[in-house]
Amino acid sequence: MQAGLTSTSTVSVSTLKNQLSCRVIGPEDAGYDEMRAVFAGGIDRRPAVIIRPLNATDVAQALGVARESGLPIAIRNGGHSYYASTEGGILLDLRELTTFEIDREKRTAWAGAGMTAIEYTKAAAEHGLATGFGDTGSVGISGITLGGGIGYLTRKYGMTIDSLLGAEVVTADGQQLQVNANSHPDLFWAIRGGGGNFGVVTRFHFQLHPVDQIVGGMLMLPATADNIAKAMAAASAAPEELTAIINIMPAPPLPFVPKEHQGKLVIMLLLCYAGDVEAGTKAMAAFKGIAPAIVDMVRPIKYPELYPPDDPNYHPKAVGRTFFLDRFDRAAADTIVDYLQRSDAPMRVAQLRVLGGAMARVPADATAYAHRTTPIMGVAAAFFTGPEDFGKRETWTKEFASALRQGNEGVYVNFLADEGEARIRAAYPGATWDRLAAIKAQYDPQNLFRMNQNIPPRA
Ligand SMILES: Cc1cc2nc3c(=O)[nH]c(=O)nc-3n(C[C@H](O)[C@H](O)[C@H](O)COP(=O)(O)OP(=O)(O)OC[C@H]3O[C@@H](n4cnc5c(N)ncnc54)[C@H](O)[C@@H]3O)c2cc1C
Repeated sequence: MQAGLTSTSTVSVSTLKNQLSCRVIGPEDAGYDEMRAVFAGGIDRRPAVIIRPLNATDVAQALGVARESGLPIAIRNGGHSYYASTEGGILLDLRELTTFEIDREKRTAWAGAGMTAIEYTKAAAEHGLATGFGDTGSVGISGITLGGGIGYLTRKYGMTIDSLLGAEVVTADGQQLQVNANSHPDLFWAIRGGGGNFGVVTRFHFQLHPVDQIVGGMLMLPATADNIAKAMAAASAAPEELTAIINIMPAPPLPFVPKEHQGKLVIMLLLCYAGDVEAGTKAMAAFKGIAPAIVDMVRPIKYPELYPPDDPNYHPKAVGRTFFLDRFDRAAADTIVDYLQRSDAPMRVAQLRVLGGAMARVPADATAYAHRTTPIMGVAAAFFTGPEDFGKRETWTKEFASALRQGNEGVYVNFLADEGEARIRAAYPGATWDRLAAIKAQYDPQNLFRMNQNIPPRA
């Protein structure tokens, strides 16, 4: 486990309550347990104090408390990462930063760093506009943006960072900076993929795109190796408007899944065509023609409807390994079926995403996300029950990912858990790492922001 997740220093909650003008919550206060909860099951950390800033000044003060006390500080927005909380340290919980200001003419928005993807998506959809995030509404806009952002609009409009115009950042020494292509361009480069290593973002300035009615939803097909290979071929050949997130997994016992298929391996395709409805309906034929569907929910919908309602009580215990592929073939499909059939994990999945399009046209050194032309991203994941089966599930995911890998050792930082420095470095190949470490040394020489996929300052 990375240093800083636990602490033995102390802080007086009552002193902080007098010192700070925003909410300060200690272990004895109402709401403490709800506020410290994170998305992932099995993570149960108890911060010494939770600070809920209302603006950049509150953030600067909280960073001062961290510097003076020596307590580790965790920054939290959506709480979906491994580092969303701390045992005994300060939890800076940004969820009260939810202002949303849209400029319809320019198609831009300033969004508070405490919003979730679905909150932003719904607010923008009122104007027939969108900025692309991921496949899950409860993910925070901060975490996903700072790590890159890959989702339903990536092929058409690029990664989330490709729609980032600027940000307000509070640095480790408490300075409040406007960061964009002209102001602190080095920092602007680093926060587009380098994660929360460089400061606390309080507001993001995004480009919006005309995305209103789309064709999308879930299509479930039987998971033969042939069908998997065909689905991947269809996703690769699809127009850039169309993104497919392809999950191969046992069919969940949900009411809309016919009983005879529940528990059997299926391909659950999450599909989105962000464009003309007629063209989208035609494009979907490539997937619908693969095999008779078990479930077909693909239809014209408003973009936010693509996100199923989030259950706040859903905290899965899952272990995963992410990987990149340069191509996909029938042998890879066989490996997937083989591994999924061999495991007895209560839930297990291979997720594949065909990338490319607008994302791949951005030069590799334009942002801190350098894997621009890698065409396929995957994750092998399994649910575990507790310590008794964690090791077994972790080994299975590692072996599964290795069996699929073809020599590309790169990773997407947002899909990492606590996997060690080599994996973080793999997210930032070659010169990217050196440049990030130099920028870190400039803006956070003491590594105050270390509870993350950490890039230590270059000595
Ligand atoms: C179910 C699920 C689905 C996902 N789907 C996708 C997907 O489709 N596409 C994709 O690209 N990713 C996806 N992810 C990965 C997700 O983008 C990362 O886990 C991301 O870090 C989550 O952001 P968060 O704000 O929810 O998490 P948090 O844990 O709150 O924050 C993540 C990291 O960012 C730092 N941080 C948060 N806010 C700030 C801030 N304002 N300033 C500075 N640092 C900050 C935190 O310290 C932490 O290190 C998914 C994750 C899960 C669990």
